[in-house]
Amino acid sequence: MSKAARNIVNRVLSAVRWLLSPVLGEFNFFLAVWLINCSVTIGYMIGCASIEDNNLWHGVRCFALGTAVSYLLTVVLYLLRPCWLRRCYKTLIYIILITLQAVYTFIFLNFDMNLGPRVLVLLAETNTKEAGEFVNSYFLSSKSLWTYAIMVAVIAAVSVGEWKCRWLSRLAKRRFVRWLLALTVLPLVVCGAWLSHNYVRLAMCQHSKELNKWVQDFGVDALDHLSTTYYSLCYLGVADADIAQAVAVAQQVDSTPVEVNEPDSLNVVLVLGESYIKSHCALYGYEHNTTPQLIAERDRGNLIVFNDVISPYNATSQVQKNVFSLNDKSAGEMWYEKPMLPTVLRHAGFKVYFWDNQRNYSKTEMFTITVNSFIYNSTIAGLSYDETSDNGMTIDGNLINNFKKNTKVPRGKYNFYIFHLMGQHVHPVGRYPKKIGFDVFTADSIRRQEKWLTADKRTYIAQYDNATLYNDEIMKRIFDLWRDKNTVVVYFSDHGDEAYDWRDHIGRGNVNGPDARLFHSDNDVPFMVWCSDTYINRHPALVKQLRVASTRKGMVHDVGHLVLRLSGVITPYYLPKRDISSAEFEPIPRIVYDKYDYDKYR
Ligand SMILES: [Zn+2]
Repeated sequence: MSKAARNIVNRVLSAVRWLLSPVLGEFNFFLAVWLINCSVTIGYMIGCASIEDNNLWHGVRCFALGTAVSYLLTVVLYLLRPCWLRRCYKTLIYIILITLQAVYTFIFLNFDMNLGPRVLVLLAETNTKEAGEFVNSYFLSSKSLWTYAIMVAVIAAVSVGEWKCRWLSRLAKRRFVRWLLALTVLPLVVCGAWLSHNYVRLAMCQHSKELNKWVQDFGVDALDHLSTTYYSLCYLGVADADIAQAVAVAQQVDSTPVEVNEPDSLNVVLVLGESYIKSHCALYGYEHNTTPQLIAERDRGNLIVFNDVISPYNATSQVQKNVFSLNDKSAGEMWYEKPMLPTVLRHAGFKVYFWDNQRNYSKTEMFTITVNSFIYNSTIAGLSYDETSDNGMTIDGNLINNFKKNTKVPRGKYNFYIFHLMGQHVHPVGRYPKKIGFDVFTADSIRRQEKWLTADKRTYIAQYDNATLYNDEIMKRIFDLWRDKNTVVVYFSDHGDEAYDWRDHIGRGNVNGPDARLFHSDNDVPFMVWCSDTYINRHPALVKQLRVASTRKGMVHDVGHLVLRLSGVITPYYLPKRDISSAEFEPIPRIVYDKYDYDKYR
């Protein structure tokens, strides 16, 4: 070997020694922190052998990140002086990590949940009474006893490590162990350090706009306790900032000019459907007649059916926030940057009624928490609704009955009604009443021949179609509420779904890349405007324009601008270029999931 080469090798070796010195000097601490912090990651990587969804490369990246974090904590200890400060630091890190491990083990065993923003939100929202009930229910459950046993073992292992720290330190300095550490820990630390610079960017995210971009760019869903907790705290900070801005823009509505260009009384109805597969809708050509009422309304000339409107996401909460807000999503505006449609209509003098069948659906899931923290924020709700339903009902018919029976606020000259249905959501067999005419389709009705269609799957499809048939009846009931008045109804679904349509799969799919078939299932939605005879007679030009507009390419999140025009409301928040019915409507690239141009993958 030449002298220059020897020099380089020596320099590399001394750099490795230098980098490894904190680990060797504080070996028991590093080992404890590393194992606790990365326990989930290690479990995830082991799970790669048997769990289909686990991705080994993702596990390795998370392991690198967790190792770098553990290394950084060890470096701090290695450099700390004096002794008492070292002891305090060590104790603090152990307490934090052991607490996180205990919380993780407890919620994983009891609720099959991981650490994340949801846990922090639930903890923050739990009041003393609920906490008491929680302790009573779970304190002595068998899974909790397992948690205690595991935590006793963890604490015992950490204590033994501290007690035997000199022995562990000597062990680490053995040639074989040093090489092992140099070849495993250091490469992980280097990769992890590179990944962790993104966490500096994370801390600078002020709103979801930046946070979403961060998630898109970074793409690592960390698994180690400390990175996950850090992400969760940043997420909550961002969520609070979003709501604070949404409240501020709602308050600004009051000072904007507004008038209503409608001489007579008017009812405007917005119906947000749920999980409606467009290809199961007879209005759009489905082989079974799942929409006899809607077809009758269309044939009478009251229903205008839009044939190319899509949803930007396949998750209710993401769609709903953008549907309620008057943001121009195509211009990059977020839902919290513009006020909600009901806030503006109420400011214009409308009475606003909101009957929501999903208000309490999966109350402890993030999707409900995030959307409810926006649409039911006390300030925003105070400015937006005259009356809301209290609870979700079992089926949509009960929501309509509840609305008919329980609204107390007297109607105004102008009224805006919002119904958020349960539609054909997950478990369609539970979405319609049995034995009163809606169990029309059975497994025998499904004549398709794909190889995956077993009798059970045909039954599921039939149930989905029955739920669709019931939804058709619900729409008729809504039209009937104001059929003889000056009324316009806008109805669409938040997203689609799958019912064994083109593969052996039900429910919305994970979007791992652009996929035309998935987009057609999950993003194509029914979208329609129903006008009473009175509305048609009083707005002939507008109705004519609606018919012309029905073939345009649109997106559901622009619906607020259409509703403003149908309501006759003149406000600076109205954007004609985003109103599908307007002559000034500008088609835009239809971006789904914030990154795919839907029309390029048709
Ligand atoms: Zn949904």
